[in-house]
Amino acid sequence: MPDYKLLIGGKLVDGDATMEVVNPATEEVLAVCPRGSQRQLDAAVAAAKGAFKGWARTPMDARRAAVMKLADALEARTEELARLLTQEQGKPLAESTAEIAYSAAFLRYLAGLDLESRLLEDNETRRVEMRRKPLGVVGCIIPWNFPVLIIAFKAPVALIAGNTIVIKPAPTTPLTALRLGELCAEIFPPGVVNIVTDQNDLGGALTAHPDVAKISFTGSTETGRKVMSSAASTLKRLTLELGGNDAAIVLADVDPKVVAAGIFGGAMMNAGQVCLAVKRVYAHAAIYEDLCAELARLADAAVVDDGLMQGAQIGPLQNKAQFEKVKGFLEDARANGRIIAGGTVEDRPGYFIRPTIVRDIADGTKLVDEEQFGPILPVIRFTDAEEALERANASPWGLGGSVWSKDRDRAYALACEMESGTVWINKHLDFGPNIPFGGAKQSGIGVEFAEEGLHEFTQLQVVNEAR
Ligand code: NAD
Repeated sequence: MPDYKLLIGGKLVDGDATMEVVNPATEEVLAVCPRGSQRQLDAAVAAAKGAFKGWARTPMDARRAAVMKLADALEARTEELARLLTQEQGKPLAESTAEIAYSAAFLRYLAGLDLESRLLEDNETRRVEMRRKPLGVVGCIIPWNFPVLIIAFKAPVALIAGNTIVIKPAPTTPLTALRLGELCAEIFPPGVVNIVTDQNDLGGALTAHPDVAKISFTGSTETGRKVMSSAASTLKRLTLELGGNDAAIVLADVDPKVVAAGIFGGAMMNAGQVCLAVKRVYAHAAIYEDLCAELARLADAAVVDDGLMQGAQIGPLQNKAQFEKVKGFLEDARANGRIIAGGTVEDRPGYFIRPTIVRDIADGTKLVDEEQFGPILPVIRFTDAEEALERANASPWGLGGSVWSKDRDRAYALACEMESGTVWINKHLDFGPNIPFGGAKQSGIGVEFAEEGLHEFTQLQVVNEAR
């Protein structure tokens, strides 16, 4: 079996323990990899703290160049890493290949951002300058749905701003992150980037650590709450990218065939395990039948298979716990709605659930009100768009949402009323490193990407000088 190592203080080291990583398409052990201990987490934070001053003083262009080098190194190993990503995460190989490509693109774009000082006043009485300084050690906590891409959201901005980082991958998807660590070991000075794995037992220690200045967390709202309360002890800076229950509101004037394709793609990518996936559809009664039928047709036609198999469109759920959770949503769908496609667990090893379309279901059910994070889509009927908007907004979450209509002005007006950090018109799930991304309400705090995201990795400092 290939060897995996943690990255602590510039050294690739064994874990104090080991853990098994399971391939979700076969339920077989894919690899045994290091499992970090509390001692190793502390060592990683200490290494990051030790490296901070030197890295913060390194010219920004040199920091930028190092991140660019990482993008090149990642890209050069696309084929191998994409394969490994599919094996540990489950997504089809084409999606894994795209994840590596997007990761390189995010690293490059974000590394190209600038942190400029601003002169607020300069006159005979005073000179006031606003600067942005790094914070110190940043903890990056990563979920299992995009194990590489989400590192590429956080690491480049943290690093070009002059911070040092400790990355903690999700326990079920540590392997590609550890390979990334090997690349980092060759590029960054010791201690600047550290990677420590765990079995869901070190996140709390990282968020409470007195030498960590900021936590950039992506994961569930439930864990986000724990991160927030734990970070309170030292008033850490926080970026929380959490769960969502994105609604797509489909008005009466659309072509159901065209819209169904966009919605199906936005709901089923990565087997529905996307924070910004379409998680509920509100469809006008005039197109309800046609939209449901077309979504069901797409679901029936989808090829569900091991992501390494050619032609696979939908892979397994990433882990057993999520598989069991999504099966609970299937039961709810059966009890409270009408399943018109899918609804079955594949009769084979692996955590496979066929893409499922559920109609004649209403708000107030588990499938509509909660985040399924799996390939099951409820379609709810409405007759009044304002009322649909109200129902879409009656959620504690507010990550994304979309409005679908041929009437641009009407769609725009409704879109602006959506209580979400991102809202799309006639599409869903489109984002980029130049577009700030963050959640409203309980979907998060702060933003990632673009200059706004970069600023979250800095401390604003005012230098106010007497004349
Ligand atoms: P999770 O919250 O279970 O785990 C996320 C990470 O937090 C893992 O690395 C985990 O080990 C760590 N963790 C666990 N307990 C911790 C603690 N007490 N303190 C600190 N860290 C801890 O989430 P998940 O199941 O891996 O991911 C799925 C969730 O993530 C979904 O709700 C999804 O919507 C959300 N998500 C959000 C975004 C976004 O950008 N908004 C992106 C991807 C996923």
